[in-house]
Amino acid sequence: MSIPDISRANSAELYEKAKTYFPGGVNSPVRAFKSVYGTPLFIEKGNGSHIWDADGNEFIDFCCSWGPLILGHANPNILEKVTEVMQKGMSFGAPTALENELAELILNNNRFIEKIRFTSSGTEAVMSAIRLARGYTKRDKILKFEGCYHGHSDSLLVKAGSGLVTFGETSSAGVPNAFANETIVVALDDTKALEGAFAEFKGEIAAVIIEPIPANNGLLLQSQEYLQYLRDICTQNGTMLIFDEVISGFRVGFEGAAGVYGIQPDIITYGKIIGGGLPVGAYGASAEVMDHISPVGSVYQAGTLSGNPVAMAAGIAQLSQLLKPGFYQELNDKTATFVNDILDFVNGKGYPVKLFNIGSIFWFAFTDQESISTAEQIDPNSMVKFKEMHRELLNRGVYMGPSGYEVGFISSAHTTADLETTKTAIFDSLDIVFK
Ligand code: PMP
Repeated sequence: MSIPDISRANSAELYEKAKTYFPGGVNSPVRAFKSVYGTPLFIEKGNGSHIWDADGNEFIDFCCSWGPLILGHANPNILEKVTEVMQKGMSFGAPTALENELAELILNNNRFIEKIRFTSSGTEAVMSAIRLARGYTKRDKILKFEGCYHGHSDSLLVKAGSGLVTFGETSSAGVPNAFANETIVVALDDTKALEGAFAEFKGEIAAVIIEPIPANNGLLLQSQEYLQYLRDICTQNGTMLIFDEVISGFRVGFEGAAGVYGIQPDIITYGKIIGGGLPVGAYGASAEVMDHISPVGSVYQAGTLSGNPVAMAAGIAQLSQLLKPGFYQELNDKTATFVNDILDFVNGKGYPVKLFNIGSIFWFAFTDQESISTAEQIDPNSMVKFKEMHRELLNRGVYMGPSGYEVGFISSAHTTADLETTKTAIFDSLDIVFK
């Protein structure tokens, strides 16, 4: 049954003002709700799995700030640690013991990197990893995959996912051709295309960068065999393999996708969860590779707020909770049950909907296809159905990220009751979408 739209009067007023201050009224494009129904919601507060908007509407949140909030909003342990550290000053531009503490938590529990460098965003981490690979191999070209998003640095805004695909443009204006020419783009899950690129640009490719769990253009899960093939072809060609684990790192397991697939990349990038909700990114590799970074090596990379004590504190408080025995098992099991219950519902009704899932990440695809592993397999017209579902879900108190190309996240703060309420909202919404 259709129900009335939620009130957005206060959000609409804030948005009108915001449009006079910021391009499109936002500081990051997808937030503008351009591809879903209505005014963007201005969020006032969050607690656990719930958020409240400026009109007092309450939602169960499956966006989780696009991934960082694996423990939900305003986690008490993170709040306590951050508040304690903030009292002593917010930034020094000098080393602090907190950086060591976060590095130890990560390096002692991750078999895939030996040294790490903290940045302030995922974009910076990836941009720096690419520079490291170029400096290390003394080659210029990089290879990326269609639909993978790696932040907004110049070389990587070519056939990318996330906000670009949401708005129907997969590359950005303002990227010089000379830069774009150094970026080779091939389709995911296509060994022939890879072989072709390595043959054409023999000895020229510094790095292949992939989201090993591509989650910015739907959830384009790759096979173990394909990822292993990628590892092998990089090794044979002296090309560095970069796993961009900004989403999958600490999400599908503490060791991210490298741990899940048991594949050793040459460099790994992290973001989101590593900062506990504050701005942090990181990249890591073997000690030998990392020692090519300044001040010991010749690859320059720096940051006024890199390793910021408040952000480190949030990361420490978050990651130490993830290391508790059974944390991921419980979270992933909870997600699998949620996904399977929805699949049972859509299959029972014969609706052309699939839910793809790994760990605590899920993605709704409005399709009949059994699997989707490349960007071009997604029909842009299917996004109309997502838009309708998104509106119905908001009206029923469920907040998904405002784009059908983006994935949803479940946190440890989502209770069984939250997930039951959400399932009912999804069932009712899909009944309306397919009525
Ligand atoms: N890499 C991947 C895989 C991402 O998903 C993102 C952001 N969604 C980035 C890089 C860029 O991170 P940030 O937005 O923190 O700059």
